[in-house]
Amino acid sequence: MPDPNGFLRYERQLPKRRPVPVRIRDWREVYPPAGEELIRDQATRCMDCGIPFCHEGCPLGNRIPDWNDLVRTNAWAAAAESLHATNNFPEFTGRLCPAPCEAACVLGIADDPVTIKQVEVEIANHAFDLGYVKPQPPATLSGRSVAVVGSGPAGLAAAQQLARAGHAVTVFERDDRIGGLLRYGIPDFKLEKERIDARLAQMEAEGVIFQTGVNVGVDVTADDLRERFDAVLLTCGALAGRDTHGTPGRQLRGVHLAMDHLVPANRVVAGLQESTPIDARDKHVVIIGGGDTGADCLGVAHRQGAANVIQLDQYPLPPEARAAELHPWPTWPVILRNYPAHEEGGERVFGVAVQEFVDDGNGNVAAVRVADVVVERVDGRRTVTVTPGSERDLRADLVLLAIGFEGTEQQPLLDQLGVTRNPRGAVDAGDDWQTGADGVFVAGDMHRGASLIVWAIAEGRAAAAAIHQYLGAPGDLPAPVRPTSQPLAATR
Ligand SMILES: Cc1cc2nc3c(=O)[nH]c(=O)nc-3n(C[C@H](O)[C@H](O)[C@H](O)COP(=O)(O)OP(=O)(O)OC[C@H]3O[C@@H](n4cnc5c(N)ncnc54)[C@H](O)[C@@H]3O)c2cc1C
Ligand code: SF4
Repeated sequence: MPDPNGFLRYERQLPKRRPVPVRIRDWREVYPPAGEELIRDQATRCMDCGIPFCHEGCPLGNRIPDWNDLVRTNAWAAAAESLHATNNFPEFTGRLCPAPCEAACVLGIADDPVTIKQVEVEIANHAFDLGYVKPQPPATLSGRSVAVVGSGPAGLAAAQQLARAGHAVTVFERDDRIGGLLRYGIPDFKLEKERIDARLAQMEAEGVIFQTGVNVGVDVTADDLRERFDAVLLTCGALAGRDTHGTPGRQLRGVHLAMDHLVPANRVVAGLQESTPIDARDKHVVIIGGGDTGADCLGVAHRQGAANVIQLDQYPLPPEARAAELHPWPTWPVILRNYPAHEEGGERVFGVAVQEFVDDGNGNVAAVRVADVVVERVDGRRTVTVTPGSERDLRADLVLLAIGFEGTEQQPLLDQLGVTRNPRGAVDAGDDWQTGADGVFVAGDMHRGASLIVWAIAEGRAAAAAIHQYLGAPGDLPAPVRPTSQPLAATR
């Protein structure tokens, strides 16, 4: 029986982050492991309310009150088991999820919500440290095989579910390492890559085969895969970066997509290359885009030794607290999101849009010309109105475009399968997660549009359950209730 008064005794408290002057000199995670007592106290704040809206908030349907109470009573092994029952990779979500569960926490109506995400990551840490994460190979093999194309969290979650159900799973990845955006998009200060390796070791022991450096559609055709495997799951992400096409000066040297900055920076940290062609050292950096990709560029730029960083956002400065009339509890509120990278320096400018990249006379960017703007929805369409006379130049010798993604890349694989992208750049699926091609399924960002890790895992689990059924295997695989194979608005 949970402690009904826990939230009266303990205030919400997050673990301390490593000091800024220390952490920007390395690439280690910002949060050191939290003390056990702090996490137990925080878990004690969960009152196990009659209707746990946090379940509804979490796309995976994580059984949050259950594992909060197990942590409160020091039952870490049982907490790890309960958490892993719905989430293959709590070590990723516990570090990286924006925690929609916390926005839906009942305690949040009158008080600060429970620090659900922090409890989650500590359960995951205990599970690895104390040896609770063990391979769970299947008791019998089904004799059926599945190819998973793409090794981000969607592909990995599906692969683990299917391998544990006895199917022979091979994951094909065109990069040289497994992990998708977890590996080369998200910087180490948010997720150290040993976390991925530790999980991959478990999956390999469960029978999953990983093949890196294989661009499906180029190195092996879609027909090859369909002949060799009983089902194919596409989890190729939504990696087509949005560009500022048409903005004067876009072609100047020094103007780059965010991913062209983040990927080599991650590879340098991993020791795979010595330097990056897009280094922020001593540069005046302007990041266009106020989301978490922009915040990742900010953290990387500071660690590379940027002289100065400005992050621009078209939208006005959001409120710091939920505007209840617009975003009532338990919905996801539009509020100012501060990432740890923001306390490391730099300036944020809201309500501005780029008008031009200014040439230094030699084909290099010298400044970003911005103007104040008002962004509105008129008849359902987004309009951007420039305030006359507000133009000004911001000095810049490196500009990073972090303005989102336009869906999955158009690539030979899609042509070979006869699968098309919808107007959002995503690949549609039927209720059974199948694309228009028989036996070919889709999940994650490739299906949903650029979204979140928690949604990728949830869709991977749901698609795995559908594939298991398609293969005619006995019994059902567990799948979250909420993910639907129908096209959804992106959540990032
Ligand atoms: C910079 C950045 C930071 C982010 N930070 C967060 C965060 O803090 N929290 C959060 O929840 N989400 C975050 N996200 C979003 C999150 O990373 C994605 O939603 C998630 O990774 C999607 O998972 P996925 O498995 O669908 O695809 P991805 O992770 O994109 O993986 C797709 C994989 O498919 C591979 N692939 C593509 N085509 C082929 C092919 N033909 N053959 C073989 N392999 C192929 C790609 O190389 C890639 O490895 C961030 C995204 C970015 C870009
Ligand atoms: S995965 Fe995200 S939404 Fe679900 S419990 Fe963890 S932090 Fe909350």
